[in-house]
Amino acid sequence: MKNVIIIGSGPAGYTAALYTARANLKPLMFAGGPPEMPGGQLMLTTEVENFPGFPEGVMGPVLMDNMRKQAERFGTEIIGELVEEVTLKPHAHQVVVNGVSHEARALIVATGAKARMLGLENEERLIGRGVSTCATCDGAFYRDRDIVLVGGGDSAVEEACFLTRFASKVSLVHRRDELRASKIMQDRARSNPKIEIVWDTVLTDVLGEDAVVGVGTKNVKTGAEGEIACAGVFVAIGHDPQTSLFQNKLALDENGYIEVQGVSTRTSVEGVFAAGDVVDHTYRQAVTAAAMGCKAALDTERYLESLE
Ligand code: NAP
Repeated sequence: MKNVIIIGSGPAGYTAALYTARANLKPLMFAGGPPEMPGGQLMLTTEVENFPGFPEGVMGPVLMDNMRKQAERFGTEIIGELVEEVTLKPHAHQVVVNGVSHEARALIVATGAKARMLGLENEERLIGRGVSTCATCDGAFYRDRDIVLVGGGDSAVEEACFLTRFASKVSLVHRRDELRASKIMQDRARSNPKIEIVWDTVLTDVLGEDAVVGVGTKNVKTGAEGEIACAGVFVAIGHDPQTSLFQNKLALDENGYIEVQGVSTRTSVEGVFAAGDVVDHTYRQAVTAAAMGCKAALDTERYLESLE
């Protein structure tokens, strides 16, 4: 019987691990494994400029590697596997991994959120053959090629700017006539000569047999249909919480995010705590996820003390 099992290895999971390990609770973390990648969404990002303590910025994967090392330094046991099933039973929660059941008095859920797709048939068919949700991973394949990127939030603009390092041109296709991204990011996009913003437009199709050659488009105001030739399509339209393991087991809100009680990280089941993007659809920052991971660890510590 473990004191605490942590599911997920983004900033929330690693911070919860760091705090519970320093409190001598010997946490066990399931960090995720194929087809998922341990480390969460920052593994798919480039320069992180807004995590405090890094005046020159830090690459997302480097930040996550540092968080992992810091959690391990104090005795976190980290296993790079996906959790298959959970059974929530106060005082003895069960987590099944590779067919083996692990038990813990407390659980910290930090499973994060995952990239949304447009839902077009050919988008799915051409994933990995021109369609991508990860500019950092795949951008370098498009040196001197044209790229279409869909979305209007901070992620879309950040990825569009990153992709201009490689691409000859990035068409940023957005379904409205204003970007959702913050002002500073908007200014970056507008001042980048390689980025063209295609307003009021949605994709109707991804074109190509074995590789992407373009996209079909539709202007939502005029109804005019068209095509943009490109070698790559990057989708950056937001995320969904990773809560399939907890359907009908934890109280979730209408969008599938885990509900917590007040300012705590307590979920609807005793001894189960939740932190990071799996809870928070408002702030969704690495630093806010890390902060919630800390709160979940402190809530867990107090809960375990109360059992004794
Ligand atoms: P987001 O803010 O939710 O933006 C999603 C964008 O995709 C929106 O522009 C949305 O359009 C568009 N969209 C959604 N569904 C669509 C669909 N089916 N078809 C076409 N377009 C669609 O998501 P995000 O950009 O991933 O950002 C998430 C959070 O992380 C935000 O709080 C953001 O500020 C933060 N973030 C911060 C940074 C940074 O500060 N460096 C970097 C990345 C992310 P509408 O605008 O019309 O809704």
